[in-house]
Amino acid sequence: MVQRMRMVKDELLGKQLASYILAESLGHGAFGSVYLGKHFLLTQKPPVAIKVLNTVLNSQEEFDRFFQEAVILDNLAHPNILPVIDANLYEGYPFFVAEYAPGGSLRDRLDQLDGAPMQVEEAVTILTQVGAGLQHAHDMDVVHRDLKPANILFNAKDDAVLADFGIALEIQKTRRVDEIGTPAYMSPEQFKGKLSKKSDQYALGCIAYEILTGQQLFISDDPYIIGYKHIFEAPIDPRDLNADLSPAMAAALLKALSKERDDRFESVAEFIQVLQSALSSPRTGQKRTATRQAKKTNQAKKISHTTQAEAQQSIIDTNPPTRERKPAGPDNPVTLPKFLQKHKQNPNATRQPTRQMDQLTPIWNTTSGLQDVYYSEATVANGIIYAGTFTTNNDLTGVARHLRALDISTGEHLWSYKANGGIYAAPVVSDGLLYVCSGTRQGGGKIAALDADTGEAFWVNETDEPLRATPTIFNDIIYVHSEHAVYALNVATGQQYWDVTLKAPLQGRPMIVNNVVYISTERGHCYAVDAERGQKIATYADVGQVYATVPFDEHVVCICVYNDQLYALDMHSGATYWSLPLENQITNEVEIEDGIAYISTEGTFATSTARTQLLAINLATGQKLWAAYLRNEISATPLVVDGIVYLTTSSQEVYMLDTQHGKLIHSMKMHGGRVSRPYVSNGWLLINTNEIYAFQLS
Ligand code: ATP
Ligand code: MG
Repeated sequence: MVQRMRMVKDELLGKQLASYILAESLGHGAFGSVYLGKHFLLTQKPPVAIKVLNTVLNSQEEFDRFFQEAVILDNLAHPNILPVIDANLYEGYPFFVAEYAPGGSLRDRLDQLDGAPMQVEEAVTILTQVGAGLQHAHDMDVVHRDLKPANILFNAKDDAVLADFGIALEIQKTRRVDEIGTPAYMSPEQFKGKLSKKSDQYALGCIAYEILTGQQLFISDDPYIIGYKHIFEAPIDPRDLNADLSPAMAAALLKALSKERDDRFESVAEFIQVLQSALSSPRTGQKRTATRQAKKTNQAKKISHTTQAEAQQSIIDTNPPTRERKPAGPDNPVTLPKFLQKHKQNPNATRQPTRQMDQLTPIWNTTSGLQDVYYSEATVANGIIYAGTFTTNNDLTGVARHLRALDISTGEHLWSYKANGGIYAAPVVSDGLLYVCSGTRQGGGKIAALDADTGEAFWVNETDEPLRATPTIFNDIIYVHSEHAVYALNVATGQQYWDVTLKAPLQGRPMIVNNVVYISTERGHCYAVDAERGQKIATYADVGQVYATVPFDEHVVCICVYNDQLYALDMHSGATYWSLPLENQITNEVEIEDGIAYISTEGTFATSTARTQLLAINLATGQKLWAAYLRNEISATPLVVDGIVYLTTSSQEVYMLDTQHGKLIHSMKMHGGRVSRPYVSNGWLLINTNEIYAFQLS
């Protein structure tokens, strides 16, 4: 029986329920599956979310109750309650059509915080919104019954809305406690089969406790033990987990979590009101603990000092770019926004003629003779080359972790600095300081600020994960990132301003445009974060895989891949400027220079063109200017300087192409294991393998 139901669910994709075609699966819960639905005819209609319950209605009584409940929901209209658009049966399976909430769920947001408490003001804002929706339902004598972070969604305005009033629970009330889903938010009386508005208040108390402390009220793998704890065990004082909470705030949480219903607040509205006034009450008698949570709290605090009013002001209206995308094509011509039209002419037309590569003169190279030790991409300042070393050979990790400074005209070794692990990326020089990132899987990461002349260390800051990418400096802040975190540090002191931890790995590097840091993850979520305070100002769900976020006049354009199409999206309106079908997978970051995006792609067994290509695409129009085919995979982000594209391959070739037509100007075959991204400036070309090769360009 269970199997048959699964099959039905999987067969639902592409089917039409009511007026909607189930276009995508949004996820599965304990009681059903949720799909993204698109109107079969009216393409201008916004997408909807369709929840199909995984049980057929067995009796007339269940049938009546389902429809009665749907009518009740319909009457619940409130800005903080997810609007229900339709309810019906599909082959005996009940389903609801609801507004699509593009901002994800509170569960997603808590997961992103990874155990750190949410900033208090932000938490109270969310709780206030949820509380308003819940109080409204209570005023209409409707009890939610299944309140939990997964059922709190964020709509297009980024407001919290309540979803999933427990109709499903009612229908399947014969389930055992371990089948209901997580009992983490169930009140003591609920385990005994009693339900009331006060149970919703208790659940809201559990949610408040979790977002304000970073920890669930009671944790166990065994749902019966959780039940036991809800009934008998006193909660840990919230202030032992988050020292930043005021005594008044902690007292409010504990009151809502009273074991006896009568000891809780009169109403949800009263609970929220007390939370809000606790916001402004002093944090006297601070508790400090050495727990990980407490440490994280302090960091989280640093993220922002904005008031609630400021925080609300800074929220950008997030229309997710996701679902409305239409591919460009003859039937669906892209109308270029005005600001892009002036860029429409081929940006190459105004470029200087391609330089001739008639001479590439080798000047010097190092002769260290090391095997399996490689030089990272270099950077040059004031006639000094800075390049790190790393290895792929475990035995050599003690050797390959030096930052070397060499004289560019002679190759003479000036000094070296020993890092805590391999240095994989180009260091950065700014204001006489050299910033070097390093790390190992076991030992974590380090960023060091060194005197660029002498190598003397000014400050060092450590991170949990290795730092393997080049940092970015903007407005006296240095932005460093590891696989799951972004840090903002003071350039002069290394003091941390804020950090953002992500559950999914970062995709590409954080991009800073107009004082906003855009951070995207491999799961296709993109966050806009205030560059100075680290405060999240917008979430863009399902942007696809982001390869670049770039300023274009006053707009921010995101280059991403979604459903095998390459898109240029306006980050704020979600508008698609253009899209192109993409035959292959993108490898490396996208280099953008003079209005052209240089994109390296690689064929796979699944794609039609099993070849490496470099594509040059006009950023304004999406027009493909040229494609260059290569034998071997491109191994680093293309480098474009003075009308030449520098490419390195996995077979240690270096290619130089002209930016105008992608014609080959010069190629070299290097040896020594691997080639890092070249460095070009002031007539110098540096190619780093296990040695550094310096050429003069003329
Ligand atoms: P439960 O079955 O107890 O409600 P759940 O909330 O985890 O558990 P579902 O309600 O089935 O499971 O939701 C499944 C997924 O679909 C969740 O990831 C949820 O965030 C997403 N989802 C549900 N409704 C919507 C909606 N209206 N808009 C966008 N996403 C939604
Ligand atoms: Mg749900």
